[in-house]
Amino acid sequence: TEANQSNKYRKLHPSWKNVLNNCCLFSLSALQYGLSAVVSATKASAGLPQAGDEYDFYRSFPGFQEFCETAFADMENMVCLLMQHHGCRAHMRDHNKLTGLEERFDLVVDSNDVILEKVGILLDEADGVNRSQQPVMPAGFQPPKIVVSSWNRKGSDSKRGSETFRLLHAKNITRPQLKFKEKIDNSNTPFIPKIFIKPNAIKPLPSYFTNKQIRKERPEDLDVPAALADLIHQQRTQEHVEDMFAHPYQYELDHLTVPERMLSKPEPQMYKPMAETKCSFIDTLEDLVALNEKLCRLSEFAVDLEHHSYRSFLGITCLMQISTRDEDFIIDTLELRSEMYILNEAFTDPAVIKVFHGADSDIEWLQKDLGLYVVNLFDTHQASRALNLARHSLDHLLKFFCNVDSDKRYQLADWRIRPLPDEMFQYARADTHYLLYIYDCLRVQLLDFNHGQPGLLQSVWNKSRDISLKRYVKPIFTEESYLELQRKQKRSFNTQQLTAFRLLFAWRDKLARQEDESTGYVLPNHMMIKISEELPKEPQGIIACCNPVPPLVRQQVTELHLLVKEARDIPLLKAEIGAQQKKGLTPVKKPEVTLFGPHDTSRTSESDFPPFSPDELPVKQGMLFSDDEPGKDVDMEKMKGLVASAKITLFEVETKSKQGSLTAAQVKASQIIESFHNPFRMYLPSKDVHVNKNAKFDPSTKIYEISKRWKLQSTEQQQKEMEAKRKAREEAKELAKKVSEERNKAKQSYQESLQNVATVRQQAAESAKGGGKKRERVASEVGESTPKPSKKLMKSAEKPSKKDTAPKDDFKPFDYHQSDFKVFAGAKSKDSTQFDPNRQAYDPSKKHKNPKGPKSNSSAGNRSLSYLAGKSDRGFRHNWPKR
Ligand code: AMP
Ligand code: MN
Ligand code: ZN
Repeated sequence: TEANQSNKYRKLHPSWKNVLNNCCLFSLSALQYGLSAVVSATKASAGLPQAGDEYDFYRSFPGFQEFCETAFADMENMVCLLMQHHGCRAHMRDHNKLTGLEERFDLVVDSNDVILEKVGILLDEADGVNRSQQPVMPAGFQPPKIVVSSWNRKGSDSKRGSETFRLLHAKNITRPQLKFKEKIDNSNTPFIPKIFIKPNAIKPLPSYFTNKQIRKERPEDLDVPAALADLIHQQRTQEHVEDMFAHPYQYELDHLTVPERMLSKPEPQMYKPMAETKCSFIDTLEDLVALNEKLCRLSEFAVDLEHHSYRSFLGITCLMQISTRDEDFIIDTLELRSEMYILNEAFTDPAVIKVFHGADSDIEWLQKDLGLYVVNLFDTHQASRALNLARHSLDHLLKFFCNVDSDKRYQLADWRIRPLPDEMFQYARADTHYLLYIYDCLRVQLLDFNHGQPGLLQSVWNKSRDISLKRYVKPIFTEESYLELQRKQKRSFNTQQLTAFRLLFAWRDKLARQEDESTGYVLPNHMMIKISEELPKEPQGIIACCNPVPPLVRQQVTELHLLVKEARDIPLLKAEIGAQQKKGLTPVKKPEVTLFGPHDTSRTSESDFPPFSPDELPVKQGMLFSDDEPGKDVDMEKMKGLVASAKITLFEVETKSKQGSLTAAQVKASQIIESFHNPFRMYLPSKDVHVNKNAKFDPSTKIYEISKRWKLQSTEQQQKEMEAKRKAREEAKELAKKVSEERNKAKQSYQESLQNVATVRQQAAESAKGGGKKRERVASEVGESTPKPSKKLMKSAEKPSKKDTAPKDDFKPFDYHQSDFKVFAGAKSKDSTQFDPNRQAYDPSKKHKNPKGPKSNSSAGNRSLSYLAGKSDRGFRHNWPKR
């Protein structure tokens, strides 16, 4: 009764807290009211007596109980009504009272999902997205005025004008790739030039390109068994490797000289007003041929391209703009993709100058999609840089020389849209229309700037030629590709996170190639990082890391979930180690390590050691103190390459050899010196390890303790190994000489350490190998940065004579062999005749037209893919300079 009266208890059972929170759905008008109601309800429920605590006590009052039950029934009723209203399952009442609560809770959760999904749809609609409509067209072309896809929600950007154009990822554009005569090649193989005739050649095109048969030949076409076919194919292609990857116009470009007239001062020829200039749209072969003929007769023309890179793995060149002194042309490169090569006649004619602005990407796109090359290029961007103009973008040049205010908002339009909307058409046209006049002006300035001397102008021609020598390089996936991206992100991952990142990266790359989508479309970087960081336990958690959820992620969420699970299953280590393991496949020779501290892992990497073959490697694992005679230790010489000796030291003692001939004073002095022992030396396994003898046998010192423990440990190991060996060979060899035996052991333990490494790597890769080892270490111990001596071991170490004491696997003294040597274990000799993807690796630094580095994305707000604005690179492989 008391409970009933007290306001405090007229509240809800805690389990209803969530129910209430989740189920409150309100229309916009009710938002205010609903929100405050929810807030007070949440507050109230937080103040309730806790189940398992006070609650049970209060439950013993029948009045309280009764009240709770009525309140419960009321709420259940309300919730059911809500659920029914939304068309959800709602048979709450039928449930068993005992087991029912959980089920009911699930029902509520399900209903919430349904409701939230509806909310999402409604919000999308309010946002201007209509999921089932025709292609999105720009404003003015077709109502509605502002159209955005769900991938392209409006940002908080308040500039109306630009909003209108940030449409530009129309969902329902048919993929132009489908119409391409030659299918897109997303395979993980290097790009081979698309050229089979070479106009304006000084050096003829290699037979590989002219002979269609070789070029098109596939292993399966050969009329021999498959294995042999592969071999023959490989052999045949090997012969052509050099030609295949060379720039087809390398020779011509190398021998290109700028004619005198190009270095003299021109009279700038004013551009024709746009309105008075004819502009033709070219989408037939006939027109293209006519255009080519026209171009061949000119002394210069301006070129620009528009490209689309979101819904395609390698990107697609959608449009080519060409302007002559009197005419503009817009070429539909989607339609004429496989015919565009005929323009090579004009494009590679050294007598015809091709003017581009910022041609770096264009040169690559021309090769990649159209098989076009440029001989005699003038890049106005390079000229602007040589002149040290304030800014080097085309807008700036247009403003500066032509006083034209350009509008770069269409730059990121979806250039696949057909028919090409008029705004986009005009925009594209303006990109080249003024360029020849700008070219004139820039040449004048370059000469004036240099007091009439042609040096500066010449340097621009040279720079331009270098750009036209660029070769398109296809992104090649390697086992290490992910590290590059990871490094760029500057995140520190643990091994599980890094594994997840690696697996997701591989999944994304594969899917993107297969579906011909950009990696940014499949799974944007920031989402991939989020998933890797959070390692969600449930598929739902993966979805939660993505907003909005990319279609392919939603579709393959179970697949992704398995990958994340796989990553969770690997031992948790620090990130750096994981990264080292992955990339440490190619040891690099480094002559010397100047300072060496075995604990300083930051400085010791695989590259600190010269390469060696495992057979040559003597390893004295577990031997801190070598008791060998110096003379017998033949392997020590080889060790020197592996273990650096200190170059700066206080502890250089030269006493040993001449001990006999020393005076009493000298002996005393040397003993004093000896007492300054190098604290790190004890970690060095070599014979020149110097440890104070007294310290070594003085039970009060730390060294004594460690030395003893270590020695016992190694004795045990050795004994066990001996045992195994003896069994295997029976009585073949009774303990021969101690030296050879020692060496055997060393070798064996080294090999074992290799085995261990392999086991770990294999485990990570889930491949099966190395099962036959007798003594396997637990995977988690490998790579542990600071293994601690276990108490158990300390105990067992006290009874060294007991032969059958199993070595404790959980103890491992600091073992730099393992962390350092393992990198060699997997170092498979790469087939050097094979193509090396790293050589082709994309170098982002070369992309920047602006020497000051990537733009701090002043244009981010104008990006059409608003969900990534400023945050990620959208998976694009380019760092866009401002044009
Ligand atoms: P432009 O030479 O300025 O006409 O640019 C040619 C193509 O480069 C455009 O069609 C875009 O595909 C691409 N592009 C230019 N700037 C950017 C940028 N900031 N971000 C992404 N893509 C760009
Ligand atoms: Mn351009
Ligand atoms: Zn352009």
